[in-house]
Amino acid sequence: MSPLDQLDRTALLIGGDRREASDGATLTTENPATTEPLADVPAATPADVDDAVSAAREAFRAWRDTAPDERGRIVHRIATEIRDHAEELARLESTDQGKPLSQAESDIEGAAAYFEYYAGAADKLEGASIPVGPDQLDYTVREPYGVSGQITPWNYPANLFARGVAPALVAGNAVVVKPAEQTPLSSIRLAELCVSAGLPEGLLNVVTGYGDPTGQALAEHDGVDQLTFTGSVPTGKHIMRTAADSVTPVTLELGGKNPAIVFPDADLGAAAEWIATGIFTNVGQICSAADRVLVHESVREELIDRLAGVVEGYTVGPGTEDPDIGPLVSEAQHETVSEYLEVGRSEGATVRVGGEPMDRPGYFIEPTIFTGVDPTDRVAREEIFGPVLSVLSFEATDEAVSIANDVEYGLVAGVFTNDLTRAHRLTRELEAGNVYVNTWFGDTNQTPFGGYKHSGIGREKGLEALDSYLRTKNVAIDLGT
Ligand code: NAP
Ligand code: MG
Repeated sequence: MSPLDQLDRTALLIGGDRREASDGATLTTENPATTEPLADVPAATPADVDDAVSAAREAFRAWRDTAPDERGRIVHRIATEIRDHAEELARLESTDQGKPLSQAESDIEGAAAYFEYYAGAADKLEGASIPVGPDQLDYTVREPYGVSGQITPWNYPANLFARGVAPALVAGNAVVVKPAEQTPLSSIRLAELCVSAGLPEGLLNVVTGYGDPTGQALAEHDGVDQLTFTGSVPTGKHIMRTAADSVTPVTLELGGKNPAIVFPDADLGAAAEWIATGIFTNVGQICSAADRVLVHESVREELIDRLAGVVEGYTVGPGTEDPDIGPLVSEAQHETVSEYLEVGRSEGATVRVGGEPMDRPGYFIEPTIFTGVDPTDRVAREEIFGPVLSVLSFEATDEAVSIANDVEYGLVAGVFTNDLTRAHRLTRELEAGNVYVNTWFGDTNQTPFGGYKHSGIGREKGLEALDSYLRTKNVAIDLGT
């Protein structure tokens, strides 16, 4: 059965009911490899968002009082449901988002793993007992916020759905998710699987729709107690300002312009492979992509030759054929990245590989390597979110660190060296929430992930993510006579 056979069931999920938008409006999601429409999904109105938040609030009360080990068991069953439908989900994701099938499979496996990982934490969310003297008993409890509003982007729709929903549920919250308009299908299907796994009605609600009004209505809703957002810096700042009105805490995972620093003593072959994987996976539409290489002058040409060699072997095609390079997600993203190819050239960068949109249907862009890029160039400073690598060079280590840190972002950074002391020194000096040494994408479900500076607030993944979904209550009991 094709995963698209599921699409006649596209609908909002509110309080366990599947329904259309209250005004009947829809949006169309397309296949970015062909630009053909795939499905119409509801464009939720603020009234629909209001219903979803009410349903979540209602379901929250019973869920909060469900024994934590039982919460964990239910959430664990979601992981099993996802694994049982992994192939279907991966095909759906690849078709709607455009990514190569094997990458979609890995995203879905990661989604199942989030539910498993957090399920195991459900009955371990302990408080502390605090010694304040013989006349008072003092302890803390960790309580859920209530309703978590989650706004997800189009680059990893299914995986990021799980990354936010799993810890929120385990901590005892109810959730309303607003997926990106370009890629709503996997979230709709995942929500169905959560219900078939036995998650009580209303605990998880999905409102498909546009950023404004659907996402906006969620961000400003009085009944939302916590917000999780992944996306661009401008929208993240806007969400934070909106949340300020109701003093709602936000977790923001925004973009990056991540440096990979390569020293002459590194294994250059391995560095080239890691960096190519880092920038060309999901055609660069990754917040933690290896966007810019800072390579020591003495090995610059050799590294560039090796990188070009990797790229020249890439296959191109629709995601479902599992090539190395699929289409970008949308016409808008294709346009943005095409503009950056012009910007790089006009700033005087040299195109070593690629450099053009591809002459074929769909939103394809050639994997591109710009060399001779200066630290002040826009292609060295701005997040492109496409298959475009900027190569810069340095002479002294301090110079490399200052170029690496001199951008508004601070999500991830990579160091390639076999000098242990240098590696440790740089991990301390780099302003980034995640530092990789001789690898890329070193994060797992278990490791905390998030940004410094404009790259975000709070941490996703790992046990630390649970801190976003729990608040501390301190209890003081007088024992004096
Ligand atoms: P975006 O505007 O930040 O979109 C992210 C999510 O926010 C989507 O669900 C979007 O809905 C929603 N949204 C938009 N406006 C909103 C509002 N006023 N209130 C509440 N929610 C709102 O990102 P984009 O425009 O799709 O992509 C632009 C750039 O963002 C990319 O080129 C890339 O640089 C960056 N980006 C970063 C990440 C990341 O992982 N950090 C992911 C995706 C994009 P709609 O989709 O309906 O607009
Ligand atoms: Mg958008």
